[in-house]
This record gives sequence, structure tokens and C-alpha cells, in this order.
Amino acid sequence: MCLNIEAIRADFPILSQKVYGKPLVYLDNAATTQKPLCVINKIEEVYTTINANIHRGVHRLSQLATESHEEARKTVQRFIHASSSNEIVFTRGTTESINLVASSFCRAKCQPGDEIIISAMEHHANIIPWQIQRDITGIALKVIPLTETGEIRLEDIEALISPKTRLISLTHASNVLGTVNPIADVVRLGHKYNIPVLIDAAQSVQHVPIDVQALDCDYLVFSSHKIYGPTGIGILYGKEKHLEELPPYQGGGEMIARVTFEKTTFNELPFKFEAGTPDYVGSAALGEAIRYVEKLGLDNIWNQEEHLLQYATEKLQEIDGMQIYGTARHKSPVVSFLVNGIHAFDMGTLLDHLGIAVRIGHHCAQPLMDALGIDGTLRASFAFYNTEAEVDALVEGIGKVRKMFG
Ligand code: PMP
Repeated sequence: MCLNIEAIRADFPILSQKVYGKPLVYLDNAATTQKPLCVINKIEEVYTTINANIHRGVHRLSQLATESHEEARKTVQRFIHASSSNEIVFTRGTTESINLVASSFCRAKCQPGDEIIISAMEHHANIIPWQIQRDITGIALKVIPLTETGEIRLEDIEALISPKTRLISLTHASNVLGTVNPIADVVRLGHKYNIPVLIDAAQSVQHVPIDVQALDCDYLVFSSHKIYGPTGIGILYGKEKHLEELPPYQGGGEMIARVTFEKTTFNELPFKFEAGTPDYVGSAALGEAIRYVEKLGLDNIWNQEEHLLQYATEKLQEIDGMQIYGTARHKSPVVSFLVNGIHAFDMGTLLDHLGIAVRIGHHCAQPLMDALGIDGTLRASFAFYNTEAEVDALVEGIGKVRKMFG
């Protein structure tokens, strides 16, 4: 089915804004997505009708807010096909989810000299939490190299695996190169050696269907704000048997069963990992975002986004001096590029004045920039609500900037 993009754009009030008197062309969706009205309205609805702290209240509002929060957990469970809602932990986002696993996993499972495998295309969120644990626990980080096209090879991962490997933590899709990694194969490879695999789905869950049971991954993390939901909330999926074995990440209210000054026993899953008042407004709005995405259909979403990716790649390639970074066969709708002789900052600033929002810089992937031998790129990233006309505006804008630089 073809999506009616014009009708869909009406769901996103921000898209009809003007910037510097020019129609906004929002091509920064890999950084964060815009929010449909139903998500915005949900936030208002929770605050105006059921707002009360959850789980501990006997009163009506508290019960309704608790139901809403737990209903959202079930929506996430259904969306990623987890076998139980106990496997869905609400966090602040991808970053906190990875920090949680890194901290709890390394404390429980790692000895000095044990190894964690990540890749050269990881976001800082999947590098630094492991480095922090390296300094605490004495683990070592091993890094999967990239090919010329910005892909990883299974044989390179296998060559890094040793008897000391404890976990593979890999992004599903690169936020810079767009590369979509063969995560099912990586999970299979990891499991061949009894190594659990964490998938960073921050750049994939909004584009392609994910079935954690079919994939058999051990952990999977993502952020609400990249899938049309609110900021400040995200998901850690973990197989129940793993989460049961991990110690809590943070201490406080909600995550306990019984507290004395001598000893505390912890709450059951998933509450053991949810210290403090949870973001029950954010969870309700994330649930709404997921229902919105489901209504459009991820297959339809992907068709539109893949079309935009191809169209943009073709058009951008026609520009003189264009260098595109990331030419993998399977890509998410992200194009990173530089135009010969023009600094990304200058190009990004001038495009901004034409109403075109792209991201510039290292995209929180400095080790990848080092491997590419550059200090940053421009990045256009697409969502289903983008149009060919917006790609044309980008290409035309780049042409104007090139002329200015003579
Ligand atoms: N991993 C990847 C691949 C990302 O693209 C991002 C966001 N740019 C993150 C992790 C971190 O997500 P957040 O800032 O929402 O925690």
C-alpha cells in the first residue's frame, strides 16, 4: 500500500512551519523524529485526566495511571514480539539502556581480562558505557573493523571471539553510514559460542519490523523519541532469564520488595530495574506512537523511506564533488556526505538559512570519523513524511551553496 503522504503530514503540525520564511524541510530524523498530534494529545490527556503517581496508590487516578503505564508496556511487548511484558524495562532511552546492561552485566558476569565486542561504527552510547566498565572491572573492548563500503563481516567477528568473550554489543543500523547489519547472523554466531548479543535498535525500530523472539537476541534497546514518541523514555528488552540474573542498576523507590537498614530485597521483573517514579506520561505517549506506526504499517513506512533513500542517493551523486560515506547494500534512510572543498559546518549553516534541517558533525561517532579520516559529515536522514520535493530542495540548496563557494 502507498501511504498518502500529504494526509500524513497533516498529522505533524511542526512540518507546516516556516523557518526564516522558508518552508521547513526537516531531514534530521535520525537525530529525532517529529511527533504526530495523537502523541502530543496523549501527553495532554494524561496530565488533564489521570495524572497521579503509579503503582503505590489505592486511589482511582493512581489506578488509572498505573493501568495506562502497564498497558504501554504491553504495547511495546507486542510491537517487538517479546514473550513477556516482564522483559520490557522502561529507561530514559537507548543510552541509559546500554549503560544499564553494561553496568549490571559487567558487575555480575565479568572478570578482569574478559572481553566485550563492539564495532567500529558504534554510536558513543555503545562505546563509552563499556569503557567506563573497562576502568571499573578491567574488561577489554574488541572492535569489529569495517569494510570499504562500511559493512561488517561475520568472519571478522568470529576472529575476535575468544574464550574470554562475554558479550557482543552491536548496532542494528549505523546512524552515520546507514549500514544495516546482519544482526540475525551475528546473534547466531554469538550463540554458537554461547555469547549473548545486545542489539542497539535506535536507528532501526522506526524503519523495520523487529521480532526479538525470531531474532533470538538477548538484549535490544531503543529510544522513544526516534520512533515518533516523546523524549526522555526508552526501552531495554532483555530475555527474562538474563534480566533475572542481573543485579539492579539504580536503587530507590519502586525497585524494592522489602527494605531495612541491614538489607534490601529487590522487586520482581521488570520493576527491579525501574528505580524511582517512572515516566508514566512518556510511556502512554510512546504507546500511542507505536499504535500510530502500526496503523501506517512498517512495511509501508519502509517502502516510502527506501524510495526516498534511493532517490536522494541518485540525486546527490549527480552533484560535482559529492562524496557519500556509507555505500552498504542494505541501508537505513540516512545519507552522510561531504561536498569537495566546503566544510560541513558552512554547508549546514547555509542550508539552514534555506529552511533545510540537516545534521552536521561527528554524529556521536568519533572513532568512526577517525577511521574515515574526516572530522565530520553532513547527514540527511529521512522519515516516511518526507517527500521527493524535499529531497529536490536539498539538492537545489547544495547547488546554491556550491555556487557561493565558486
Ligand atoms: N545508538 C544509536 C545508533 C543512535 O543513533 C543513538 C542516537 N543518535 C543512540 C544510540 C543514543 O540514543 P539516545 O540519545 O536517544 O539515548
